[in-house]
Amino acid sequence: MKNYKLLTPGPLTTTDTVKAEMLFDYCTWDDDYKQVTQVIRKKLLKLAHASEETYTAVLIQGSGSFGVESVLTSIIGDEDKLLIIANGAYGERMTEIADYAGINYVVYRAHYNETPSAKRIQEILDADPAITHVTMVHSETTSGILNDIESVAKVVKGAGRDFIVDAMSSFGAVDIPVEKLGIDFIISSANKCIQGVPGFAFIICNREKLQESKGKARSLSLDLYAQWETMEKDGKWRFTSPTHVVVAFAKALEEMEAEGGIQARGGRYRANNQLLVRKMKEMGFKTYIDDTCQGPIITTFFYPEDTNFSFAEMYAYIKERGYAIYPGKVTEAETFRIGTIGEIYEEDIVKLCDIFKEYLEINDRREAV
Ligand SMILES: *Cc1c(COP(=O)(O)O)cnc(C)c1O
Repeated sequence: MKNYKLLTPGPLTTTDTVKAEMLFDYCTWDDDYKQVTQVIRKKLLKLAHASEETYTAVLIQGSGSFGVESVLTSIIGDEDKLLIIANGAYGERMTEIADYAGINYVVYRAHYNETPSAKRIQEILDADPAITHVTMVHSETTSGILNDIESVAKVVKGAGRDFIVDAMSSFGAVDIPVEKLGIDFIISSANKCIQGVPGFAFIICNREKLQESKGKARSLSLDLYAQWETMEKDGKWRFTSPTHVVVAFAKALEEMEAEGGIQARGGRYRANNQLLVRKMKEMGFKTYIDDTCQGPIITTFFYPEDTNFSFAEMYAYIKERGYAIYPGKVTEAETFRIGTIGEIYEEDIVKLCDIFKEYLEINDRREAV
């Protein structure tokens, strides 16, 4: 069936108008096309509340992980040491990137349903002056928890270290005053809350810190400085750019402005999320993350107790009726996830919950016999 909506954390359901932008084949060195890239870069800085004097935006081919890998492997030099804060699979992925690249690092792990403690980070930084950079995930898509980057930014900047944030699944939906917080590099991608299609990642970079990284990159294709140097000239990408993705993203940015920017988009996602959680709880589902730190992007639910519940069967039942949900990713419990981002509205959540209810009733009847 080709007409289901995605209730996943990206790629997500996009508008028909964003998809329609991809019907034309652009020429990568044409001025009109290069201008599209430049406009995108400017708009991204605005969304990040980052001034053009201090910050610059770089787009890089690939999925979000390519963006994270580009930053970590381009910015952290051989003399540097990285503190990775991890409370989910995306934090753990950063340790894998560091392992592959031979980056000197330490990890502070918090439990998947707990936000990392700024106080603990302060202690780690005080005890280890060799640490030069700190990195963490904002919205941990593994669980849906929203980490408190503000209090961590205070500690990291107060200690004079550089701060790298993976805001992949929050940028565009949760307002982040990047310059005010002093974040040096913040990463997101085309197919999350801006509601574009997959194909590139983007990084808002402190210009000075980016320029200092010249020559440090451990990979040619992911060299952040080299990518920026080429793009900064006139908007031409260093290697073949994902043209269709880029023009679709430009359209997605326009549609986001028309919706009312981060405020309105974040508000819609939050409303989706709150409605979902309320209705699912009414049906007896429990959330993995406490309400106090549950983000608006994606929610993890425990499998229902006391039933011979099959996720695969339920998934198929729901998909047939128009929605694709997501399996769980936390390690210690049986869970599934429902994303509330993308071109999704409260009416979708109502429909989805009706489908859940139907399914649970069928399941109950089956168990009764
Ligand atoms: C989506 C996502 C990524 C990138 O994942 P890709 O599969 O490479 O796009 C990284 N971090 C977080 C928090 C994400 O949600």
